[in-house]
Amino acid sequence: MTFSTFGQKFAGECGILQLMADLGTAVRQPGAIMLGGGNPSHITAVQEIFRDRMARILDSERDFEDLIGNYDTPQGNQTFIHALVEFFQREYGWDIGPQNIALTNGSQTAFFFLFNLLAGEFPDGTQKRILLPLAPEYIGYEDVGISNDIFVAYKPEIEFLGDHLFKYHVDFSSLVIDDSISAICVSRPTNPTGNVLTQTEMRHLSDLAKAHNIPFIVDNAYGLPFPNIIFSEAQPEWEPHIVMCMSLSKLGLPGARTGIIIADAPIIRALEGMNAVVSLAPNGFGPALALDAVRTGEIMRLSREHIRPHYEKKAQQAVAWFREELGDVDYFIHKPEGAIFLWLWFRDLPISSQELYERLKARQVIIVPGHYFFPGLTAVWPHKQQCIRMNYAQDEATIRAGIRIIAEEVKKAYSMSNE
Ligand code: PLP
Repeated sequence: MTFSTFGQKFAGECGILQLMADLGTAVRQPGAIMLGGGNPSHITAVQEIFRDRMARILDSERDFEDLIGNYDTPQGNQTFIHALVEFFQREYGWDIGPQNIALTNGSQTAFFFLFNLLAGEFPDGTQKRILLPLAPEYIGYEDVGISNDIFVAYKPEIEFLGDHLFKYHVDFSSLVIDDSISAICVSRPTNPTGNVLTQTEMRHLSDLAKAHNIPFIVDNAYGLPFPNIIFSEAQPEWEPHIVMCMSLSKLGLPGARTGIIIADAPIIRALEGMNAVVSLAPNGFGPALALDAVRTGEIMRLSREHIRPHYEKKAQQAVAWFREELGDVDYFIHKPEGAIFLWLWFRDLPISSQELYERLKARQVIIVPGHYFFPGLTAVWPHKQQCIRMNYAQDEATIRAGIRIIAEEVKKAYSMSNE
């Protein structure tokens, strides 16, 4: 069967698809220690709130029938959009109205829409790209472009913090923003590293975007005000040139597939059109489950009191266990400032991160090899092959067992090269 060029791009051999298939097969093995994907924890206190809300929907006279029986508008559920507008006006004083919000079937879908809206081939024949100012960056961006090569990324500066910790910073001296750049995008907190770009970095990037009259896309899937998986100082900001992408997934609702995009009205209208063509209307379950929590502001309390402390404790525990297991190995962990991952860098690792992944998989520990997280970075950089990403959302026993095996394999790799 021969597929179109478009079809081959998506049904073919793209890296993320292969990796996902591989992870899926590995996970089905009995006893597998799954530290690979991006699944959030199941937090009982949070799940109870959504279970209660579902029970109230089922008990009410019409809510359940309305939820299952009607398409929402292509922009998304209007009641939820209005509740979100009031929420962001009240909490942050943002100057937005319903014309500034669209919902999508998960924020991943929003990135597919946004990147293809803003990058690729333009009517005048020019090719435009999205600038990712700091690699490593989210693996999920890698293959979303209908055209190839829609990203340009730059190597970061590395700050050594002592005690086997480090932090990436944007290297502003190397960024080139010419006419071929049509938007700037960062995830904050960053998947895979747990980095939270500083307020100064964010302001600088925002100013650069504004000065070049291009959008600044902020992937806030783990950020403020919900799910608030941020352990350092941060403040969300919105201006008309900012495209703020949020999600209900890491709040504990990945199955509800709900992304929330806050942007200037022309971008929202385009997303509305894309929703209409691709899926008629976005999913209504996420909006129905989260509506009350947004209206009352409970969503912020949930995030602050349950979600954030849950992950912060897990991050600290995982770092402590790595310290215990790795001893004097030449390793560094990106300072965990947010998201649900640890990013480990094994300096001068004698094997590639892919080989380390294979060896760990053979011992039923599933992580993601780091070289996948450099979309748009063509520069040769050994660092790309020396890192892995580990999800720490699982229960303690699983994380503990996984860390022990990772440490054993890493030590083995270093010691065999010294023999
Ligand atoms: N952005 C980042 C940084 C992510 O890690 C993820 C999922 O893991 C997404 C976006 C997409 O999430 P969803 O489509 O579930 O909203």
